[in-house]
Amino acid sequence: MRYHIWTVGCQMNVADSHKLGAGLDRLGWASVESPEDADLVVLNTCSIREHAEQRALSKLGTLKKLRRQGKQFKIAVMGCMVGVNSDDLQRRFPYVDAFARPQQFEPIMEAVGHEDLGGEFWPATFETPDGPTAYVPIVHGCDKFCTYCIVPYRRGRERSRTIDDVYAEMAHLAARGVREVTLLGQTVEAYGHDLDGTPDLGDLLRAVHDIEGIARLRFLTSYPKDMTERIVAAVAELPKVCESFYIPVQSGDDAVLERMRRGYTVAEYLEKLELIRRAVPDVAVLTDLIVGFCGETEAEFQSSYDLLANAGFDKVHVAAYSSRPGTIAHRELADDVPQDVKLARLHAVEQLETGISGGINGRLLGRDVEVLVEGRKAAAAGDDGAAAVAERPWFGRTRGNKLVHLTGDVAVGELATVRIEHTSAWSLSGHTVPAPVTAAT
Ligand code: SF4
Repeated sequence: MRYHIWTVGCQMNVADSHKLGAGLDRLGWASVESPEDADLVVLNTCSIREHAEQRALSKLGTLKKLRRQGKQFKIAVMGCMVGVNSDDLQRRFPYVDAFARPQQFEPIMEAVGHEDLGGEFWPATFETPDGPTAYVPIVHGCDKFCTYCIVPYRRGRERSRTIDDVYAEMAHLAARGVREVTLLGQTVEAYGHDLDGTPDLGDLLRAVHDIEGIARLRFLTSYPKDMTERIVAAVAELPKVCESFYIPVQSGDDAVLERMRRGYTVAEYLEKLELIRRAVPDVAVLTDLIVGFCGETEAEFQSSYDLLANAGFDKVHVAAYSSRPGTIAHRELADDVPQDVKLARLHAVEQLETGISGGINGRLLGRDVEVLVEGRKAAAAGDDGAAAVAERPWFGRTRGNKLVHLTGDVAVGELATVRIEHTSAWSLSGHTVPAPVTAAT
């Protein structure tokens, strides 16, 4: 039997898809590239923005058409589009065979005749990695209930995996060639508060640090309020933990943060940033920002713009607010910023950020950086054949999570030292050198 999994959304979704794929592999199924060749097609969906939902709906439309043309595959919809109650979805999409909430794979397995899996099946199922990097979820769900966000309703309350469980999965991945693991949580510093002895993320990082073969550790996504000195100290002390934080600010204005119920002020956020930068030299910081949130005035937007202009983020993921049914903001706040204003603010931030990222990356020109080689760059249009593959540059990431294209005699999974010869706002490029790494970047 053959399966095809299509995934959109966050890294947690990617990890869920890998887990489902690993379970199907254990049952003797094979993964295929095209839905047309599959017996089971799974759409792993995201609801965080309307655009992501539209993509899943359009994919469903394509599958429906293939079904009409006589294709026999089962269709499953999984992920954040599926709430506690899927009656409405069942009515809208009667041709879908299974609806599964995030990490609740049972309805999918039932649809394909595997309702008999024991309770130990999923906990003992680890993905088979297909490269030197892997994601490992450590805490599921979210308790924060930011007013714009659907995640707590779809992924449930925070539930941490034990240190032993995470260790076992990482050891399994390391034995299969994984060199870099990113520990995942919607709010990753919430890790452990629900476990016996209440270990925190720092304890977990220390516990998994000695796993042989793993050269790098990362974690995301950070929640400013949950970030503690203890966690930052662990990051600073442990050599395998990369100097990179992904810590969403969402707005640079206190009134907007209050309406979002983010639980911190701009000053408190900046204190956390200062704590990180003091403890971890050369740290790269990524953030998220929403523009055009309910009632956002020109002055409130300007506060966000000013924050970005001064905070020196390495990268900003900016999004125009889109109201999501089921959230507090959808029920209680007016989505009253006109679309053209949202887009103008989005473009202003993108332009500002391109200049800032370009400047920060430009400082790496001529420097030697450590890069974990992940593979060859994707083929350009017109390339074909093995010769073309061998000519394509390699790509990988620095410890600061910056994309690097490189040339030189390297292999996938190798930690190479690369002298940076060209920089832009989006990536770096250079050639390998034998010299040791002089700085973490
Ligand atoms: S912290 Fe807020 S934005 Fe992040 S997943 Fe939880 S509710 Fe959503």
